[in-house]
Amino acid sequence: MDLYEHQGKELFARYGIPVSEGRVATTPEEARTAAEELGGQVVVKAQVLIGGRGKAGGIKLASGPDEAFEHASNILGMDIRGHEVGRLWIEKASDIKAEYYLSVTFDRAAKQPLIMLSTMGGVDIEQVAEEHPDRIARRHVDPLLGIQPYEARQLCFAAGVPVELSGQVVKIILQLYAAFRGEEAMLTEINPLIVTPDDVVRALDAKFTVDESALFRHPDVAAMRDVGAADPQEQMARERGVTYVKLDGNVGILGNGAGLVMSTLDVVEQCGGSAANFLDVGGGAKAEEIVASLEVILADPKVDSILFNIFGGITRCDEVARGIIAALTTLDVTVPMVVRLDGTAAAEGLALLEQADLDGVTVSSTMLGAAELAIEKAGRATAASVS
Ligand code: GDP
Ligand code: MN
Repeated sequence: MDLYEHQGKELFARYGIPVSEGRVATTPEEARTAAEELGGQVVVKAQVLIGGRGKAGGIKLASGPDEAFEHASNILGMDIRGHEVGRLWIEKASDIKAEYYLSVTFDRAAKQPLIMLSTMGGVDIEQVAEEHPDRIARRHVDPLLGIQPYEARQLCFAAGVPVELSGQVVKIILQLYAAFRGEEAMLTEINPLIVTPDDVVRALDAKFTVDESALFRHPDVAAMRDVGAADPQEQMARERGVTYVKLDGNVGILGNGAGLVMSTLDVVEQCGGSAANFLDVGGGAKAEEIVASLEVILADPKVDSILFNIFGGITRCDEVARGIIAALTTLDVTVPMVVRLDGTAAAEGLALLEQADLDGVTVSSTMLGAAELAIEKAGRATAASVS
């Protein structure tokens, strides 16, 4: 889960990383008040879960409250690469002498956290990596030992940080690593880490990505989730405890177990179709879970057909069939559905489905056959809605 800049800075501050004072604003009036309270020059910053806001015009310097109001009016509602700006961060403006880059992330190949430091910050770090790879100093961290101060000093030396600033930068490296560890992050990044004309080092931007699966240990961070910014189906799935990933196609897919769902996606692609989602109802899927899952899929208007692929192991196919029957009698399912049941109690499940004789439900005995049918039905639904 990505955090907004202001949330990242709030977490940075808890670990002692110096940040500028600021306020959240969601209206031009609030931006004006914030600027009044902060005094002097301020920066009006769009809060969106995507980088490159500066280039997109989402960051503007304001000389005072009136100009802050004006910039806020322009930036609020702005579309930054598909992200609509609904909140702003107003902070005291900084004078900048130099812009550095500092991050902690996972190097999965090395199975260790990786710290990167460069004195060529501010711009795209990818560009620096391409054009001046030697200007990015890197250091892996032993996850058991953590980062040692001497290692942070070596990083500063390798990156070419002036000696008189390395004390401050070393401290921030240790703090950023502590934040990464403490909040169970996947990424903590400061770009730019600025040096002011009077040689103070401070985080001017914050990118903080936390591990969704660890959020239960961090209720305060979990509460930072912006429900409004989330995809409605993904939000719905989260509330129902269903594993769901939205994709671009029009065939809704349900399966039990991530492996089976992935194979189903492959088979649908192989047959020339495209999946609308990835939905794993998990092992031992009961009627309520199937209802919950179908609700999530049906909430996506792009779904033209549903492919229900179950391989019964611990899951019993008759139980799943009962779930499907219950779901279809409680929900208003208007899209065609193809069901493939195999494995434990498949015969009983198929018999139940046959008995129930549900409208719009077709049964197929193979995964390939089911995929072909689901794609065909989706195609027909698309054609019907176009004509
Ligand atoms: P990003 O474009 O989404 O990465 O947003 P940043 O927060 O990194 O800001 C982009 C750029 O705006 C920075 O690299 C700075 O050059 C500039 N900027 C942001 N805040 C200030 C500030 O307080 N003073 C000055 N002079 N420039 C700023
Ligand atoms: Mn930035």
